[in-house]
Amino acid sequence: MSVQKTIYVDGVWRDAEAGGTRDILDPADAGVLATVAEGGRADTDAAIEAARRAFDAGAWPNTPVAERAALLRRVADLLQRDREDIALLESRDTGKTLEEGRVDVDDVTAAFRYFADLVMNESGGRVVDAGSADVHSVVVHEPVGVCAMITPWNYPLLQASWKIAPALAAGNTLVVKPSEVTPLSTVRLVELLAEAGLPAGVANIVTGAGDPVGARLAEHPAVDLVSFTGGLASGVKVAQAAAPTVKKVALELGGKNPNVVFADACATDEGFDTAVDQALNAAFIHSGQVCSAGSRLIVEESVRDRFVAELARRAARIRLGRGTEKGVECGPLVSQQQLDKTEMYVASALTEGASLRCGGERPEPNETRPAGGYFYCPTVLDNCHRGMRVVREETFGPILTVETFRTEEEAVELANDTEYGLAGAVFSSDTARARRVAARLRHGTVWINDYHPYLPQAEWGGFGRSGVGRELGRAGLEEYRETKHVYENLRPAPVRWFAG
Ligand code: NAD
Repeated sequence: MSVQKTIYVDGVWRDAEAGGTRDILDPADAGVLATVAEGGRADTDAAIEAARRAFDAGAWPNTPVAERAALLRRVADLLQRDREDIALLESRDTGKTLEEGRVDVDDVTAAFRYFADLVMNESGGRVVDAGSADVHSVVVHEPVGVCAMITPWNYPLLQASWKIAPALAAGNTLVVKPSEVTPLSTVRLVELLAEAGLPAGVANIVTGAGDPVGARLAEHPAVDLVSFTGGLASGVKVAQAAAPTVKKVALELGGKNPNVVFADACATDEGFDTAVDQALNAAFIHSGQVCSAGSRLIVEESVRDRFVAELARRAARIRLGRGTEKGVECGPLVSQQQLDKTEMYVASALTEGASLRCGGERPEPNETRPAGGYFYCPTVLDNCHRGMRVVREETFGPILTVETFRTEEEAVELANDTEYGLAGAVFSSDTARARRVAARLRHGTVWINDYHPYLPQAEWGGFGRSGVGRELGRAGLEEYRETKHVYENLRPAPVRWFAG
């Protein structure tokens, strides 16, 4: 298989300067899917310099907003034109099902369109009252400059787009570094940006490892902003590397997300069915490799036995296989490393006293599940408590832990007992209670009687150690804009502060 030129600097696709390459594995069978350029420090510096030159030359930052918005809309159209191909690429690279890949392409398309509309509506300055008819005072927005973007492997196309779309809308230039595990769809997106007519140097990509590529992006003095999505430990390193140059830092980190189910939600058969179904959806979509996965079920004690029995019954029936196969509901984990991590967390939970209700093992290979794939059965662990590692730490695998509560107060206390604060849900048929609990959850997104939906027009991000800043929504555009106050004296005259 030939090496793809996956480094794009100043409008030219190239190999790594030092000649390094990396095999990208298909998680369904561990076979080589592609071989890409493994960039290093020199490639990263070259990409940053290209983005710097493109920004300082001023063409893109000064392109009329309507033209920038039009480019974003062309990208959205191209994404839809290539929807099936990109969905397939994402499915094969990450292991997610083809249908999830399609949903991702549609979500990403919506994000490009949303930011195209938003920037058109929000580009005007704001005149502020300076308290004098002789002063014209206006607050305007300008691009931040060179933006570095570092993304994870679970939603590669989506995470890159949530950064690239607003950054370009606002007139920035950029260097993106996708996860070294799943770089392919981001490479494809950069190709589409070029096809849509983005000038050379505005968007650059360097494929390669977190250290050196990501680390160099975070520390480089010519980078004005670094936006990172990934794990807490890497996020801390990025913030530390960025601190000496006081660049802007946006962090979208992990989560340990509670899904609180009150007994009243299960009072009818339909309510029970919905709450169980959503608990499955919350925990096992994309094999739990979702930052907002509802990996902590916090269920009212009176319904626990029935609820967990049904949940385990259904979880055990989830059809595992290669994401591109028809009828498959969950793909493999992304890598051997994730598989090892999942096995470690299940073993540690069982040692700490959890009871295994289903899963807890790798499935037998079959015609849709090659022996070399990183498959793991959806796992429900009952009798968990917050002292356990599996309850405190983000496992990022198909593991659902069960805790119980007796009172509303206790439910809220458990749900907030995490260092993270990304997302959470509450299921209750009592609207007042559901809203009361939602108001008390210290998480960036709270769903009531639902799990997982998000909207491009609503901000996404975390409280606590789930991060700093927001993506999507108005705040998602603001991340990429500086705010400038221009105060204009219409009747200049000496102020005579100094007498001499
Ligand atoms: P990771 O932290 O290992 O890697 C993320 C990215 O950071 C990769 O591109 C990696 O190469 C890079 N990186 C690693 N070390 C670095 C360093 N020292 N300096 C700069 N960059 C570095 O995370 P992952 O395993 O790829 O992704 C899983 C994590 O991402 C989970 O914790 C998940 O919750 C989080 N995530 C969060 C969101 C969100 O919206 N909050 C969305 C998706 C994933």
